Amino acid sequence: MHDVIVVGGSYAGMAAALQLVRARRSVLVIDAGERRNRFAEHAYGFLGQDGVPPDEIWRQAQQQLEAYPNLSWHHGTVQEFSGEIGAFCVRTDKGEDFTAHRILLATGVRDELPDIPGLAERWGKSVLHCPYCHGYELNNEPIAVIAFNPVSLHQAEIMPEWGATTFFTNGASSLEDEQRAHLLRRGVTLNDTEISRIEGTADIVLEDGRKLEFSAIFVVSNTYPSNSLAQSAGCALEDHSMGQQLVTSEFKETTVRGVFACGDVARVPHSVSFAVGDGVWAGMQVHRSLIDPQMSGV
Ligand code: FAD
Ligand code: MG
Repeated sequence: MHDVIVVGGSYAGMAAALQLVRARRSVLVIDAGERRNRFAEHAYGFLGQDGVPPDEIWRQAQQQLEAYPNLSWHHGTVQEFSGEIGAFCVRTDKGEDFTAHRILLATGVRDELPDIPGLAERWGKSVLHCPYCHGYELNNEPIAVIAFNPVSLHQAEIMPEWGATTFFTNGASSLEDEQRAHLLRRGVTLNDTEISRIEGTADIVLEDGRKLEFSAIFVVSNTYPSNSLAQSAGCALEDHSMGQQLVTSEFKETTVRGVFACGDVARVPHSVSFAVGDGVWAGMQVHRSLIDPQMSGV
């Protein structure tokens, strides 16, 4: 019986596991290795690791964790878990069972993208979601923003900081007059023609046949928990402006006692730094819950 099973051994899960093993607790990390930023060659904006490939950041952190004798690592996919606080049983898709007093879900999210031919295969390369992560490298060249959800308007508004911006409403966004005026004041070019497909690096081909070239296309994806593991165990979900996440308390406990969650699956906005910070906090709160299951003292 482990003290904690961490499901998802990426930035959030590893940051939590590090706090817990340093508190001399026994931790099992089960990870399928499908990190959200696996489509990108470099990760930016994470202090001390700016511009380092995601795999390298992960490998270095994972090696440091594996040096702790009270840390076990299992490569695999958790299919379901059951039980209650103090006695959970986790089952993988290969039928392996593991037990623990607490569970921490750091299972990340999946990105839902607009259904435009040519878009998905450019995800993480020339179709991007976060200008703080990937805007600087575009060297002020022209940028497209494609509307997809209410946050797209905000993205169009800030994007001129990184290059001349065209906002494609693409039938997904009907702008009010004041919103149009605001974007025009920000220097954004508005285009209401529907998009037919994406070609080349980031060329947008419109329904009327015109082709417009950009250095990159930005889209605010909708995000949802990467699988139904938490929901199947009874953890409640909540809506946010670009999808859904797990409901957690200020101590990162889900609506199921003894089951905690951190990282992209349990907070917005999303970044490696936020996932790590959330993981550190969650690790400490899981530790506190092991000491005092009622979490009574503050
Ligand atoms: P993830 O990194 O998504 O990891 C979740 C882990 O859980 C995965 O390893 C997965 O396999 C595992 N898992 C899920 N379900 C199970 C299960 N049932 N059993 C076992 N394992 C499971 N952020 C930045 O700060 N800088 C960037 O440059 C940057 N670039 C990005 C580029 C792209 C294309 C995208 C989409 C995102 C980018 N991000 C970037 C955001 C960043 O990737 C996320 O915020 C971060 O990965 C969240 O970490 P996490 O640990 O919460 O989840
Ligand atoms: Mg997560």
